[in-house]
Amino acid sequence: MDGRTNLVSGLLLLAALAPLAGVALAAGPGLEKDVIPTSAGPLEVAFVGHGSLFFRFGGKVFHVDPYGRLADYATLPKADVVLLTHAHGDHLDPAALAAVRTATTMLVVAPVCTGKVEGATVLPNGEATTVEGVRVEAVPAYNLVAKRPDGSPFHPKGEGNGYVLTFGKTRVYVAGDTESVPEMKALEGIDVAFLPMNLPYTMTPEMVADAVRAFRPRVLYPYHYGETDPQKLVALLAEEKGIEVRVRKMR
Ligand code: ZN
Ligand code: ZN
Repeated sequence: MDGRTNLVSGLLLLAALAPLAGVALAAGPGLEKDVIPTSAGPLEVAFVGHGSLFFRFGGKVFHVDPYGRLADYATLPKADVVLLTHAHGDHLDPAALAAVRTATTMLVVAPVCTGKVEGATVLPNGEATTVEGVRVEAVPAYNLVAKRPDGSPFHPKGEGNGYVLTFGKTRVYVAGDTESVPEMKALEGIDVAFLPMNLPYTMTPEMVADAVRAFRPRVLYPYHYGETDPQKLVALLAEEKGIEVRVRKMR
């Protein structure tokens, strides 16, 4: 065989193996996923939908806000770690949690979840812990503008957490239900950010654009975006060359 034939047969072999590899690496039934390289190996992100996703890193699975209306969590990988951002029903779902939890699953939850999840570690705003070798920092998640008719914020300060997870040297921020609060804008060294846009509870595309111009993640995933069109955010950030907006199915 000449080199060209080798190349062609190699390509044919790859094509034949691709469907198999797809099955072997599938995050779950029909879930989209991305792989982000880190200094300590690949970080796989599986997009469940809305505010729910999970990471696979170093053989461990980290679920964030498992929510059973988005997927059958019994069919998804079991959790080594579960992070809960707050206690609203689309973030703290006891049935989905039970479906991914095992006897050894570690749970890190926001202050508002205190007493609602047995065996969980409550991480107050601004504090940090390390689970399965991954540092987890709690960033305050709350409303500044959006309030209920009675004047109380949908997400009062001190109750909810966003999390910065450090995988290898890659820092990933999952914001939870929040607006562009000063603590978010002051974040440093964030590589990947997940920011919410469902209204009226979280941020407009303008607020998200304003926030990321301050803390400048390299990759931005709008998530928990509800009826808000993520393309509005793409348009707002079109001139920001250092920030890549990745739109996935996270309505
Ligand atoms: Zn909420
Ligand atoms: Zn929510």
